[in-house]
Amino acid sequence: MYLRAPALLVVAACSAGLLIAEGCEGVVGIDERHLARSDASVGADASTADAAVDAGPTPTDAGPTRTDAGLPPTDGGLPPTCHATPLGITFAEVVNRVTVAMSQHIAEAGAMTMPSDADRDVFAAQVLVALTFNSTEMCPLPPSYRVFALEDQGDDILVVAELDAIGNAAPRVFYGTYAARRHRARVTRDLVVQAPHPLADTNTEDEAAALFSSARAEIFMMAGTHRCASSKTSGCDGTTDVCSAGTAAPFRETDAAHSTKNPFWGVHAALSQARPSPFVQVHTNDASCPDALLSDGSGTFSDAGPTANLAAALEQAGTVVGRCGAGYPTTTCKLCAIDNVEARFTAGASEAAACTKMGTTYGRLVHIEQKPRLRANPMPLFNAIKAAFPPSP
Ligand SMILES: [Zn+2]
Repeated sequence: MYLRAPALLVVAACSAGLLIAEGCEGVVGIDERHLARSDASVGADASTADAAVDAGPTPTDAGPTRTDAGLPPTDGGLPPTCHATPLGITFAEVVNRVTVAMSQHIAEAGAMTMPSDADRDVFAAQVLVALTFNSTEMCPLPPSYRVFALEDQGDDILVVAELDAIGNAAPRVFYGTYAARRHRARVTRDLVVQAPHPLADTNTEDEAAALFSSARAEIFMMAGTHRCASSKTSGCDGTTDVCSAGTAAPFRETDAAHSTKNPFWGVHAALSQARPSPFVQVHTNDASCPDALLSDGSGTFSDAGPTANLAAALEQAGTVVGRCGAGYPTTTCKLCAIDNVEARFTAGASEAAACTKMGTTYGRLVHIEQKPRLRANPMPLFNAIKAAFPPSP
């Protein structure tokens, strides 16, 4: 018999973390975000210690570790499989541990080195295999990555993350954190929840984890670094002042929403091709925008489809909504995602084109920019997302 985690507790715990630090996508410096993450992590560490004690097998009971992952088979032995290690902590705590470690390496020169495009695609394919609940599949991930089995909302979930064998963060390549859900009895949503700007868009990593749990979404994706972690540029369209103290500058290669070099983008592209699921990407900002600014990345607003449905559901809940393509962007609120490389790829731009060219068929990815006050109390947004993306049959 397993313990079912009450949804409200999970959401409440994450919401409590969300309340601790207000942040934005504007010009706040990295050091301030460090502090925000450090503060937020204190409570989370303390509150999850009990869960680690009484939930799931002890680390010594865990299945085979993956210290050999990524290495070729030797002496005729079998290559590494996707066998998952049981882990007795909440998914929110996994995300918290990874993000705390991420923040500690944020200003470390060369903390993340981008893989080659070929290695990015190999990693993406391995992540997708690892998340299929087939423990016999071969998926030789990089040596620092492991596959873990957790319980979330009564469902089985698999997590691909840079954690050691007992679940402590041990980042080396910072390629991101990914999870997938397999329902046990009730319905789930064929929905991919994405947090491409952890730390930079303060607490969107916690919000995305809480949304993944609350909506019982199929897939979770979080980028592996702060968007400004590398000084190298991505070469993709657009500029931002987030990493350069208010001066517009090209996007960095570590900006997962604006870099096709990034492993996060590689996983998105593989997932977008492999499955029909829609995507929800959560951001936050301090610009002069409505509480929620919604777009599909096309620059126009369609009156039908998930973006329109989400806008209507949010307004019904009393949230002030801006619609990109219908009154936005403005001179002071420009965050309409037309240069978002995930939206572009899913809209039909090729791998080679997504960095510099628009897609053609938008609507499958919903880009959500939030004011900090909406993110700090995200239940109206969560409920609207649940309404806009009905459960799978
Ligand atoms: Zn963002």
